[in-house]
Amino acid sequence: MRAYVLRGYKGEIREEEVERPRASPGRVVVRVKAAGVCYRDYLAWQGWQRVKFPAVPGHEFAGVVEEVGEGVSGLAPGDRVAGMMYEYCGECEYCRSGREYLCRNKRVYGEDIPGAFAEYISADPKSLVKVPEGVPLEAASFAACVVSTIVRGVKKIGVSPGQLIVVTGAGGGIGVHALQVVKAYGAKAVAVTRPEKAEVVAKYADYVATSPKFSEEVKRLGGADGAVESVGGPTLEQTIRSLKAGGRIALIGNVDPNPQPIPLGLPLLKEVEILPVLSGRRSDLEEALALMAKGLVKPVYSVHKFEELPRLIAETPQSKHLGRRVVAL
Ligand SMILES: [Zn+2]
Ligand SMILES: [Zn+2]
Repeated sequence: MRAYVLRGYKGEIREEEVERPRASPGRVVVRVKAAGVCYRDYLAWQGWQRVKFPAVPGHEFAGVVEEVGEGVSGLAPGDRVAGMMYEYCGECEYCRSGREYLCRNKRVYGEDIPGAFAEYISADPKSLVKVPEGVPLEAASFAACVVSTIVRGVKKIGVSPGQLIVVTGAGGGIGVHALQVVKAYGAKAVAVTRPEKAEVVAKYADYVATSPKFSEEVKRLGGADGAVESVGGPTLEQTIRSLKAGGRIALIGNVDPNPQPIPLGLPLLKEVEILPVLSGRRSDLEEALALMAKGLVKPVYSVHKFEELPRLIAETPQSKHLGRRVVAL
């Protein structure tokens, strides 16, 4: 089968002919139809994520069940499925307490086990969720990494109707979907973005702030109850300043290896809580797909050819595009 292979950090991401996986007992083989390109792919490539080489990168995928191994129930060939970004054991203390994203035996696709930039992927059925009718597989491919993580973040900070929520990086893959999840939960969303993206982002937000000192704009709206912070260092201080006392920040998607100095008095004096959100649970992926099926979250993405993958990964830090970029197979 066709697959992209990475043999070492910063090495060439090259298309190769690789042996197609077969469904061993308890596992499922999925014919990959779409795979999302993520900043995490870039970080893994550059050595900021632990990767087992040689690797087939890619952790965001959706496709059609091709083959089902012995003992698998609930899935059959032909089912449309979306993958979580990792596999979990279901037995450790984290899995048993509903926190599979912290599983002691977690294996991330594309890093610990073969990933999604290939024609077929072998998956644990626990990590596969059926895609509801009406949701394209291209959109379902990033439902786990993007939308389910946001769903968990929005729950973690307790977004509720009537609140005002700041979303930074609003033109990015996380941001443009976070605006919509926040609104699906009944809150008003303030998009923080660059001036050149203000117009396109405006249709997903209630307010748009483009100033580097955006906290002043948010304060004029009365201050925010919470925030989805998807940028990190460059915006975190302003995000904290935007919040009312007791506000909560969901820190999503940014695993920037550099330290981000902020004055500690800033969160402390207002008891602003900064809550990291690593990724969603299986149930968050189910909810994410349901929000998409209901039209409450309209996925924002562009579809690219499989051959464009190395360039797409290399370009991720520049983020000039709106929404997620997906390769179709
Ligand atoms: Zn991702
Ligand atoms: Zn576990």
